[in-house]
Amino acid sequence: MPTSIRRCRVGNRMKKALLVLSAMIFSTPLLAAAPWQNIRQPVSGPAQSIGAFANGCIIGAQPLPLQSDSYQVMRQDQRRYFGHPTLIRFIQRLSNQVKRSRLGEVLIGDMGMAAGGRFSSGHASHQSGLDVDIWLQLPESRWSEAMLLTPQPLDLISADGRAVNRNWQPQIGRLVKLAAEDSEVTRIFVAPAIKKQLCAEAGANRDWLHKVRPWFGHRAHMHVRLRCPAGSPECQKQLPPPAGDGCGAELDSWFAPAKAATAKPVKRQPPLLPPSCQALLDKHLL
Ligand SMILES: [Zn+2]
Repeated sequence: MPTSIRRCRVGNRMKKALLVLSAMIFSTPLLAAAPWQNIRQPVSGPAQSIGAFANGCIIGAQPLPLQSDSYQVMRQDQRRYFGHPTLIRFIQRLSNQVKRSRLGEVLIGDMGMAAGGRFSSGHASHQSGLDVDIWLQLPESRWSEAMLLTPQPLDLISADGRAVNRNWQPQIGRLVKLAAEDSEVTRIFVAPAIKKQLCAEAGANRDWLHKVRPWFGHRAHMHVRLRCPAGSPECQKQLPPPAGDGCGAELDSWFAPAKAATAKPVKRQPPLLPPSCQALLDKHLL
């Protein structure tokens, strides 16, 4: 074989090897778009939520105690049970109230990761240690470990999305109300049909309803968000929800036929991380 052809084949082999190597490097989780799950333990320091709920992180997070008489934690293998100490205390406070009222067993879903940050899948928010998903079912008895690892959500919404279905129970409304009445809570997201049901059942005491916001999904769980805690100067506050109980025109708009889009959707770049979160990421992943 002429030397020039042999050299060419060797060159091609090297190119292939380089391509394989670069594919391996760029497919490692470390360089993926969401490297936060590689930080397995909370960052030590006084508890501090940083940035926005959908673009932030947390120093000094705590794990929710996984053993409790008043709640059960689902999918523990995912390690999404960290949060700011105010979130831990809120979950304990709420589930104790539910237990005292004998409403059933509280099921805790995703909170955040050890240092917060963006998930590789599943959530846009839950990044600064102040969000928790609580399922909208209150079983009468505790779930087994196997059930907690592969929990079955209970869809509360009718097929057309306009009303709750027969899975709805009045104690679910009491659970949402108890959470909304907590002074640390700023917003609770539920499906529009659930908000409609809460509006219908509320009676004269309706102040708490303005925190309950209709949103996409949330057919089987509520997403509870706390206010920025004291001692978190870099925590980005959200505007308070609009005044009123939110049961009128705003809620109706969720049930109106969707308007056809007139403009092309704009592809947005993901926002830059707050500098403190970027510094934390750089330090822990180097
Ligand atoms: Zn959520």
